[in-house]
Amino acid sequence: MSADLHIHTTYSDSTLSPTEVLQIASERGIKTIAICDHDTIEGAKEASKLSPNYNIEVIPAVELSTYQNNVEVHILGYYIDIENKKFNEFLQMFRNIRFVRIKKMINKLREVGIEVDYQDVLKISGNCSIGRPHLAQILYETGKVGSLQEAFEKYLGSKSPCYVEKFNLLPVEAITMISQIGGIAVFAHPFLSKFDYLIPEWVKFGLQGIEIYHPQHNETIREHYKTIAQRYNLLITGGSDCHGKHKENILIGTVCIADSFVETLRACSRRYNKSVPGREL
Ligand code: AMP
Ligand code: ZN
Ligand code: FE
Ligand code: FE
Repeated sequence: MSADLHIHTTYSDSTLSPTEVLQIASERGIKTIAICDHDTIEGAKEASKLSPNYNIEVIPAVELSTYQNNVEVHILGYYIDIENKKFNEFLQMFRNIRFVRIKKMINKLREVGIEVDYQDVLKISGNCSIGRPHLAQILYETGKVGSLQEAFEKYLGSKSPCYVEKFNLLPVEAITMISQIGGIAVFAHPFLSKFDYLIPEWVKFGLQGIEIYHPQHNETIREHYKTIAQRYNLLITGGSDCHGKHKENILIGTVCIADSFVETLRACSRRYNKSVPGREL
């Protein structure tokens, strides 16, 4: 078990830079990692460049936020073409919308009597992919809440008063987009969004895999999704979904998959196997 295929960096909402991720992964004996930042591949690009120094394979990846019936569904894309111009433009648009969304959430916070300075949030997020964890961090640092979890429960969670949606992308649109750039589209942490009944439809649109190993999936849940993977002939992925120190311990390598899963994933990737059919974006 030495592949962690779900790791975030400072380019989205982790506290760890690509260098720190590689350093920790190497110390923990991980052979393959995938950088799956929200709506950005800048961290994946940086980690790919640095990877030879650490003798670690970095799979270029991304985690896209989508909505189905107003419920958030995350779609992972593995072995994506990080140089694809159109895809980079789409990601830039998603990120621009994230900045507008955080401003809207700050306005909503003001309506409930909480003042947050946008510039202070930017100091934490940097200017790549801003998200709710950065806002939660400010609320915590300024004593408005006692924990990051409380920030989500009271204000930022999808059912909380200051929540605002991001770009209104459907799972099938994200799946199509990833497939068109030769990537492998994977349903991330399916237990968190609970759309099992839509998996057959998503498979028709090009869904190729399902994330079975995830910190939020216990053994029973894993077995459930393994059955679904078998039924629809889906690839199996997994990883720690490490966000650095936002979530207490550094999770890198605590949820891993066997190298054989990575080999299967690689074999199905058009980047490595030009005979796998695909369309251009
Ligand atoms: P965003 O992409 O801005 O909507 O932020 C999504 C990220 O927020 C997720 O990847 C999680 O890391 C974090 N998050 C979402 N909901 C919660 C929650 N209830 N508690 C803690 N973190 C959460
Ligand atoms: Zn995140
Ligand atoms: Fe996710
Ligand atoms: Fe994630």
